[in-house]
Amino acid sequence: MTWFNSTTTKKITVKKHLWVKCKHCNSHIYYKEWTKNMNVCPKCNYHGSLTAHERIEQIIDKDTFKELFSNIVPLDSLKFVDLKGSYKDNIHATSKKTGISESVITGHGNINSIHIVLAVMDFRFMGGSLGSGTGEKILRAANYAYDHNLPYIIFSASGGARMQEGTLSLMQMAKTCAGISRLNKKKIPYISVLTNPTSGGVSASFAMMGDINVAEPGALIAFAGRRVIEQTIGEKLPDGFQTSEYLRDHGFIDAIVNRKELKKYISNVLGFFNY
Ligand SMILES: [Zn+2]
Repeated sequence: MTWFNSTTTKKITVKKHLWVKCKHCNSHIYYKEWTKNMNVCPKCNYHGSLTAHERIEQIIDKDTFKELFSNIVPLDSLKFVDLKGSYKDNIHATSKKTGISESVITGHGNINSIHIVLAVMDFRFMGGSLGSGTGEKILRAANYAYDHNLPYIIFSASGGARMQEGTLSLMQMAKTCAGISRLNKKKIPYISVLTNPTSGGVSASFAMMGDINVAEPGALIAFAGRRVIEQTIGEKLPDGFQTSEYLRDHGFIDAIVNRKELKKYISNVLGFFNY
């Protein structure tokens, strides 16, 4: 951003990303402090969003991550066009903006020296929606885990199914679940980490299938949105409904883990499974 000082007409350049405003407590946090704290507010513990690459950097041992299936990209078999334009153009613009070609990055690497297969969703890519490419990558990563006897970890962040792909998108729910279920045959652990937000078709499929399902604090985890449910059942929903804390208290997830402790938590759980 560039401003001109009116008295001296000297150009003043303000660095982008100098401060971050916490979405929960509205505190202004120095950007360096924010990133050093893993995008978590030091004042109120609000867990801000992460890109898939930031997540991988936080969770995987340095220089051990190898990406898999990066050649899989979204499929526009319906040649979908809506008022905002074509799906194809949308994909192109989103890829260019985010530097990634699908809403999930898959690969393998080490977590505290334990070799695992990983899928990390990125909400920036069309709301982390579950398209055919996303489902295919998650399935192939599950198959890779199966073939190599490696634990599988998925970090979910999604608004749900990708509407531009219609039924093909919904099919990914069954497809990913089938791939993950197969891991049971070899007793390979699957850990699902739900981050803010995990909703729609993702929350109703692989995100809830973990042998261990954990969530970050304060994450929205839902199938349908609050308003839709209230209108359907004609009742007000309780406070905190559809948050990690509510789901843990009602037995839907196993634990809530702070981002800083997540890596240690996952390696401890894998240790419990003898990895
Ligand atoms: Zn805050």
